[in-house]
Amino acid sequence: MIIVMKADLPADSPELEQVIQLAEGYPGVSTQVHRIQGVTRSVTEVYLLGSTGVIPAEPFEEFVGVERVVRITEKFRTIGRHDSGQEAIGFEYNGVELSQDSFHVFPGLCAVDTNENVDTMFRALADRGIQTSRAGAYKPRTSPYDFQGHGAQCLPHLFESAGKHGIRIVSMEVTSEIQVEEIQQALEQSGQATGVMLQIGTRNAQNFELLKAVGQQTELPVLFKRGMGITLNESLNACEYVASAGNHRIVFCLRGMKTNFGDPHRNFVDFTHVPVIRRMTRLPVFVDPSHSVGTRAVSSDGLLDIFHASAQGIISGANGVLVDFHPHPQEALCDGPQALLLDELEPFLEDCRITRDAYEQRLKVAPRAGAR
Ligand code: PEP
Ligand code: MN
Repeated sequence: MIIVMKADLPADSPELEQVIQLAEGYPGVSTQVHRIQGVTRSVTEVYLLGSTGVIPAEPFEEFVGVERVVRITEKFRTIGRHDSGQEAIGFEYNGVELSQDSFHVFPGLCAVDTNENVDTMFRALADRGIQTSRAGAYKPRTSPYDFQGHGAQCLPHLFESAGKHGIRIVSMEVTSEIQVEEIQQALEQSGQATGVMLQIGTRNAQNFELLKAVGQQTELPVLFKRGMGITLNESLNACEYVASAGNHRIVFCLRGMKTNFGDPHRNFVDFTHVPVIRRMTRLPVFVDPSHSVGTRAVSSDGLLDIFHASAQGIISGANGVLVDFHPHPQEALCDGPQALLLDELEPFLEDCRITRDAYEQRLKVAPRAGAR
């Protein structure tokens, strides 16, 4: 059971204390208080843990400070919608809104290699007014003999260059807790030149200690990639680890599932799940067409499969696209074969705009079908 308090209620409000006291008066029930900072307002939620099935909603609903009482229908209580009982929770980070209403493209390097490529990439984004990017400093590779990323040593230049080109958020994968500290330190040393969204890669989707670690810090938001070989329910429960540890600024990212049934794509593209995640969770939903399609194959209509996959995600309501670009893919140290070229940036962004507009047009149909 979740008691949602009225928006912007102060932390020391007697109303909150009354709710906690009433809840803890029921045998075997304990409470947890979560404060969620949304884009326009902050919400306090009291979670009742234990056997709450028999607890009536009415006594809580009578408090003037209570907005509503939500019965839990899913185990992932913080990120879940619970049969529409909960609203989406967007957030703002470094001046950028990330919510189920916003849309951003995050084009960038799969892995940071040379300073020159970093500068070229960010300059190309700045020229087109893009303030969000991706860049990998710590790469989880299938083979220990493959390039593992430049690690902490590439961060000072990366952040300085991002700041210089007006990049506000860089999505960056972390594979261990120590890397979170390295990123925070480098950001501080750069004078917070940019922002970082900590990316949990699909291979670490159930690395519970890492999930707790990125959840315990609340400075940096988290982009959680769906686990490629586990059920959706398992991925959602894993993602809940981040929120339950205290960090509610989370983006859920689809990136394809590992199975040969997706051949000739690298992974089976799962972007029809965009609307599913949007209704099951309160989180903004991104798609990663590069790591799901994994090739630069072009279809009979002249468009790359990566363009098609992105469009499929966007037209279904995706709130963001994480996509690999590289100035010289043949020299890339990781995932060169799936990188888009810099002269494909403009057409890619145009295709995203066309598809986002089409999605917004599609919403006009909703009142006549489904949303009745
Ligand atoms: C990545 O985005 O660089 C990456 C490794 O993705 P994934 O975890 O989806 O494979
Ligand atoms: Mn990659």
